Amino acid sequence: MAKSKTPQQNTTGRPPIVVIMGHIDHGKSTLLDYIRKSNVVAGEAGGITQHLSAYVVEHTTSEGSKKRITFLDTPGHEAFQKMRLRGADVADIAILIVSAEDGVKPQTLEALASIKQANIPYIVAINKIDKPGADLIRTQSSLIENEIYIEGMGGDIPWVAISAKSGQGVDELLDVLLLAAELAELKGDAGANAVGVIIEGKLDGKRGNTATLIVKDGTLASGSFVVSGTGFAPVRIMEDWSGKTIKEAGPSEPVGIVGWTEVPKVGASFITVGSKKEAEVLVTTNKGLVERPQQYDTSLPTIPLLIKTDVLGTIDAIEHEISKFESDRISVRIIGTGVGTISANDVQNVSATENAIIVGFNVKPERAAQDLADRLGVEIKTFDIIYNLAEWLNTALKDRTPKKEEERITGRAKILKHFSTQKNSHVLGGRLEEGTLSLNQRVRIMRRDIELGRGVLKNLQQQKSNVQAVSDGEFGMQVDSKVEIAPGDHIEAFDIIIT
Ligand code: GDP
Repeated sequence: MAKSKTPQQNTTGRPPIVVIMGHIDHGKSTLLDYIRKSNVVAGEAGGITQHLSAYVVEHTTSEGSKKRITFLDTPGHEAFQKMRLRGADVADIAILIVSAEDGVKPQTLEALASIKQANIPYIVAINKIDKPGADLIRTQSSLIENEIYIEGMGGDIPWVAISAKSGQGVDELLDVLLLAAELAELKGDAGANAVGVIIEGKLDGKRGNTATLIVKDGTLASGSFVVSGTGFAPVRIMEDWSGKTIKEAGPSEPVGIVGWTEVPKVGASFITVGSKKEAEVLVTTNKGLVERPQQYDTSLPTIPLLIKTDVLGTIDAIEHEISKFESDRISVRIIGTGVGTISANDVQNVSATENAIIVGFNVKPERAAQDLADRLGVEIKTFDIIYNLAEWLNTALKDRTPKKEEERITGRAKILKHFSTQKNSHVLGGRLEEGTLSLNQRVRIMRRDIELGRGVLKNLQQQKSNVQAVSDGEFGMQVDSKVEIAPGDHIEAFDIIIT
């Protein structure tokens, strides 16, 4: 049964919840993997970590005491920035990992910005020191240049040189981490009702709606009910990070809970109540809250997207990817998101919206959905690697962008002589300065930087014979234009490109 919270009682230290952040390929997965001593890197689709999860380790410090640490297994790809941001919010401490080969990179700074936003302490791991290209001094300098003031170099940010691959320095890193945790004075009240954060939500074909939670405070006990947003679950089927069934989970512990009335949102908080009735009342209240509206520019043509994924967290990642698409000619609007396969109902729903695309990630359309989509001309695209999705999204959106005409200059020549003018036809001599001029091309007539007008190249001559194009030296030409052309003017030949 759930216990009622009595503040200021039973507060003890709790294990730190740690997030590892850094630039892609700097070794996050390898370090997490080394610490957990299992192999996650090899088995990941596209070689990137995709779903936020967590695990617990027990580290024996250099002083011989055993201490627990919870690690968030945060997604590595840049597209998962949003979840990573939330990762930092869930975490108590961050490890900022920097490769000794590369030094500080753009995503290192992005990670640092999220750490600062979350207002949590961090330590630096300078990784890959086993590699021949590793340069500790240069990496330290790049940290300082980017205002990451590490210990021994004028600052107080702890750092450790490591090899995530061989494990060199990792023990020391965990020691330093635990020291930083001590300074942060993390407290938990094991006697209170559990509160915490949802770090993963999933529709499981066999088990229904499942979620991974991190208990930030209190104890989550069988028999109570967890409520997050508009969904709740009985604490009946509860597992620890290794899949073992448990009856209780204390502060800083990650747990899996099955049986949610709906998939809870990643990054949302949860609370615990003692009865189903209380849970239902809370959910009803929460249902009255309105979702944040999508921001988009209504003055532009819009591409509506319906996003379906296997896991709730992925929706955030895709939204982040889409938010990076910038155009002054088109706007992207997410008309809906959901977890589960693409159904005929989804197709039916979007078919009313012109140009809509259904984007699936790790989910396939049902047979009937594909048939209906073919019939109604609705486009369905499915992916299992975020890179491919991001790439396709960019081309697809560009393809749908309204076309614009653009003038591209191919060559420029200086007018040296004016031989004759008849009506609007001018016979001139000139010298090519750059590029190429071709017969029948359109030209701008320029006097200094001002365009006098436009014309067409009607004849080109070099060494007294007619030519199709001129790409160097002096030449003769006939330009048809209403503009008077004088020696010293320039002509710029251009093509019209559709972009
Ligand atoms: P992530 O994108 O930050 O998760 O980076 P990964 O952990 O996937 O590492 C990227 C690559 O660097 C992989 O090929 C790793 O094997 C390699 N790597 C990571 N840490 C080390 C290290 O300490 N030493 C060496 N030699 N290679 C490493």
